Amino acid sequence: MSKIVVLGGAESGVGAAVLAKKKGFDVFLSDNGNIAENYVRVLEEWDIPFEQGGHSEGRILAADEVVKSPGIPETAPMVRTLRDAGVHIVSEIEFAGRYDSAKKICITGSNGKTTTTSLIYYLLKNAGLNVGLGGNIGASYAYQVATEQHDYYVLEISSFQLDDIYDFKPDIAIITNITPDHLDRYDHKFENYIAAKFKITKNLSPEDCFIFDSDDEITIRHLDSIILRCKMLPFSQEKELPQGAFLKGDKIVVRYEEEESALYLQELALGGKHNIYNSMAAALAAKATGIDNKVIRESLMTFQPVEHRLEPVLSIKDVLYINDSKATNIDAAWYALECQKKPVVWIVGGTDKGNDYSVLEGLVREKVKAIVCLGVDNAKIHAAFENIVGKENIADTRSAADAVKTAAGFATSGDVVLLSPCCASFDLFKNYEDRGRQFKDAVRNL
Ligand code: ADP
Repeated sequence: MSKIVVLGGAESGVGAAVLAKKKGFDVFLSDNGNIAENYVRVLEEWDIPFEQGGHSEGRILAADEVVKSPGIPETAPMVRTLRDAGVHIVSEIEFAGRYDSAKKICITGSNGKTTTTSLIYYLLKNAGLNVGLGGNIGASYAYQVATEQHDYYVLEISSFQLDDIYDFKPDIAIITNITPDHLDRYDHKFENYIAAKFKITKNLSPEDCFIFDSDDEITIRHLDSIILRCKMLPFSQEKELPQGAFLKGDKIVVRYEEEESALYLQELALGGKHNIYNSMAAALAAKATGIDNKVIRESLMTFQPVEHRLEPVLSIKDVLYINDSKATNIDAAWYALECQKKPVVWIVGGTDKGNDYSVLEGLVREKVKAIVCLGVDNAKIHAAFENIVGKENIADTRSAADAVKTAAGFATSGDVVLLSPCCASFDLFKNYEDRGRQFKDAVRNL
């Protein structure tokens, strides 16, 4: 019996282990840290041997193949040892893809993945298709392949998941956009990160589709340097396109093969320029899946924002509180500010990933009346914006409750309080979800 070792005992690793077990492999899962109790239970239920708090090198090196969880970097000593020994390492999606014949719509990119993935899933559901949602959202793809049967999958895929794919092939691949993020995992070389994202296209064949942002210079530049043999479906807010989705006056026009359909911008459920892009990508994926225009239109009109993505929380004394905790980089916060129509009290800060705040200066000047820093070290934010909003309109806080109270103090009737932090959350919170929930609780307690 072939031996599969899974490295990492969280959502994707445990899913891969379950699938390997189901397919009759001799499976062993190893995690250098602690495995959460819910995952321990799954491993026990499936009778999968595992270890935590360290790696048994000999047993791992004896594997015929290793499935590596996306959270484990290439620099981890165990990964280096495996590479040196020439053991074949694959990602969870590569492994799961071998046992799945469903049609796959796969979404990657720097921002907008979850929103676009959720939109497409909603569209396919509304069209009555038997569809699974996975990847970075919800249950892992591998776990679903082991335990469910779907005709379609909509998968959100991070660049880390793409690092170790070989034959994995989407039927429809989407890159929402590419901006610098996670460069620490790519030798601080933007080119490596771009190439990792583009791996999603590497096995596309002529009947498959590639959907991409043709306003994104980085995407276009990289496309110029490679050859893709598939249907190209670009989207743009800047120019008319012979095939794809584009803006015409107050409408989104979708041109797919011989057909053209349109949708009024004001009908879109999701606001903001970034969500026009996401809606275009979703509409194109739906067209390429053969979904009819009526379902596409109704779905884009009724979709509800995903939690922590420009999520309206409450209006208190005519001040609207918005939770955009997922905005962990500059680009995401740029779009969040860009779509605000009212004066903004902006809650920003956290673990800085090497942010260049200067790109936000114009928007801050135009829209932001006060800034509440929510982080341990706020020096860069002060340096970037104090001169713009004025010393008296910038404050430091270290808890969601304090940030919300301080923001409420700055806000007056007709304003918006926007949590769109531009930064990771790990200095004060467990993760961005924790930050978003604490923010929402604080707003409800006002
Ligand atoms: P991801 O899964 O790629 O992190 P999300 O859909 O969770 O993307 O959105 C992350 C953040 O980026 C949110 O703050 C959201 O408002 C913003 N955002 C969503 N779509 C886009 C886009 N197309 N371009 C830029 N920012 C976006």
